[in-house]
Amino acid sequence: MALDRYGRRIHYLRISLTDHCNLRCLYCMPDDITFRPNAELMQDDEILRLVRIFARLGFDKFRLTGGEPTVRANVVELVRGIAQTPGVRTLSMTSNGVLFSRLAKDLAEAGLQRVNFSLDTLNPEKFKRLTRRGKLEDVWSGIQAAEQTGLTPIKINAVVVRNHNEQDVVDLARLTLERPWQVRFIEMMPFAGATEFQRMQGVTAGEIKAWIEDAFGPLEILNDGKLDGEAVLYRLPGAKGTVGLIATVTRPFCANCTRARLTADGRLRLCLLREKEVDLLTPLRQGVSDLALREIIVNAIWEKPWGHRLAEGEIPLNRTMSEIGG
Ligand code: SAM
Ligand code: SF4
Repeated sequence: MALDRYGRRIHYLRISLTDHCNLRCLYCMPDDITFRPNAELMQDDEILRLVRIFARLGFDKFRLTGGEPTVRANVVELVRGIAQTPGVRTLSMTSNGVLFSRLAKDLAEAGLQRVNFSLDTLNPEKFKRLTRRGKLEDVWSGIQAAEQTGLTPIKINAVVVRNHNEQDVVDLARLTLERPWQVRFIEMMPFAGATEFQRMQGVTAGEIKAWIEDAFGPLEILNDGKLDGEAVLYRLPGAKGTVGLIATVTRPFCANCTRARLTADGRLRLCLLREKEVDLLTPLRQGVSDLALREIIVNAIWEKPWGHRLAEGEIPLNRTMSEIGG
């Protein structure tokens, strides 16, 4: 079992399969980003070996992310290998959905269980502006394909950006009236790559909640306000689905955090909003044993930080969001 010094049991690993992406969302990366050469990224056998070690340590929940995980070559076989690793109980993915209409069936058959799709607007023009190149219709058919294939419940993540998609919050929340989806609104966080934009144009979960309540009336809070993952869940009056608010900046959920992240270049990132990382790929490539890698992981987890320091001006600038894996 992997424990940190605050007594948190860490058993959820988010793996960034690649820092590459087929979109360039304004709030995530610069348009002219240079991606890492493939040789610097973890190879399939390296990912599978690390997953085996994490699973033996009691990690049972895995999410594949990026960059865009579906642009990774051989993603279906990689999913199969991870899903078949003893100890892996849940396997999900976060995706922009662009390639999902092609991949949903194969991914589900390989053992993927659920997907969180990122979608910040239902307006095709605005979608193109926010992603700098995407087609909303591709994402929409990707979501439909995932739903038809049983990759459910569908969750939609929307980052809310001032002067860009405030009005879209209400349209996205409305999706839950007729669909059993969870639409989650995320406070924008600052990293490298788009730092000024992220700092200046963030919107708080409190503002988002107020806009939704103005449109639909008071929200019913669910689970007595207990977090579902990182989200506080609400229901619009009479809705089939739920609305989630993820207030990572204004109300961090450190006490409930059970996660660690593996960056695409094989660093164990202990907290999204802190720069601290421990290199696993270099020792792995130097030929260390599973036991030694396990020791490195256990010691790193013990040092997992508590709390971000954004209010004190400490912004994690060693990575873009796409490199860390959201
Ligand atoms: N490409 C996939 C996608 O977009 O779903 C997976 C990677 S993306 C980095 C993971 C999540 O992080 C997405 O839901 C995205 O909207 C969110 N994200 C990206 N940049 C962010 C930022 N600066 N603050 C908050 N969330 C961000
Ligand atoms: Fe790509 Fe996801 Fe970042 Fe958008 S949020 S640029 S889809 S990695």
